[in-house]
Amino acid sequence: MFLWVLLPETQLNYFKIILMRFLPFVITILTIMNSNLNAQSGHRNPLTEEEKHVILHKGTERPWTGKYLENKESGIYTCKWCDAPLYRSKDKFDSHCGWPSFDDEIPGAVERRQDADGLRTEILCANCGGHLGHVFEGEGFTKKNTRHCVNSISLNFKPLQQTVQSSTTETAIFACGCFWGVEHYFKRATGVISTEVGYTGGTKANPTYEEVCSHSTGHVEAIRVTFDPSKTSYEELAKLFFEIHDPTQTNGQGPDIGPQYLSEVFYLNEDQKITTERLIGILKQKGLRVATKVRPATTFWPAEEYHQDYYSKTGGMPYCHFRTARF
Ligand SMILES: [Zn+2]
Repeated sequence: MFLWVLLPETQLNYFKIILMRFLPFVITILTIMNSNLNAQSGHRNPLTEEEKHVILHKGTERPWTGKYLENKESGIYTCKWCDAPLYRSKDKFDSHCGWPSFDDEIPGAVERRQDADGLRTEILCANCGGHLGHVFEGEGFTKKNTRHCVNSISLNFKPLQQTVQSSTTETAIFACGCFWGVEHYFKRATGVISTEVGYTGGTKANPTYEEVCSHSTGHVEAIRVTFDPSKTSYEELAKLFFEIHDPTQTNGQGPDIGPQYLSEVFYLNEDQKITTERLIGILKQKGLRVATKVRPATTFWPAEEYHQDYYSKTGGMPYCHFRTARF
């Protein structure tokens, strides 16, 4: 019996570990596929005179001047002209020759052709024919013994780091009244990396505080919490949410009355939705007529700077939120 209870959780953890391990790989593939779709649509970006000189007229940028010469970030290098993915950062190496160097290309992305000088091998984007640079072999720089010497100006770069980093943190969005008080509690919770107050759930882009208070935007005051899932969990934070406000109040929260103060959970994935609904079920069993709305997250618009971290800046204590044990 004990084993049956444990097994699904263990399997879930294995699944998470495998997912985290392969996520950068999956993101790379998706980035390449997305770029490929753009490129195959025949799309061409407008080029400056300097870019035309290199990409269309096979010029060469001055050595040691290129934008990506020293770039060590993880990501994909795409064609400046057509957005086709050409090179991966893992194949980039330092050749000290003054131009970005790669010892491999994304399969099928780069075409080789004898240069007009009859000596060198020119490399071009296989999709649009844009000039990239030259390829040299037998120099012994890396095991692959190949150096694609590419003009930075022929390339764009799509970093992956930001997306991969976010996989080690999680985000939650809650609304339960005046966001000053809400942030006061979430900031102090174990495992919380950062908090930000803002507006969400409505229709107006870039809303101001005055617009939200005028009830013309449909937004509520909300908090976006970034947390470390190895130190806390969405469930812990959702419990905190239900304990620092009265989820049965239907016209606002505490002394703050109005639609921008309603109790709502904006879930970012199915797990968050299920967890929230389970906690609401527990509260209902305890006799609480929970009014909290549960809906998918929409764009979160950060509030004006003076609302951020309000109680830390002003030194006061929330008048609107108090913690009550409910679980
Ligand atoms: Zn191209």
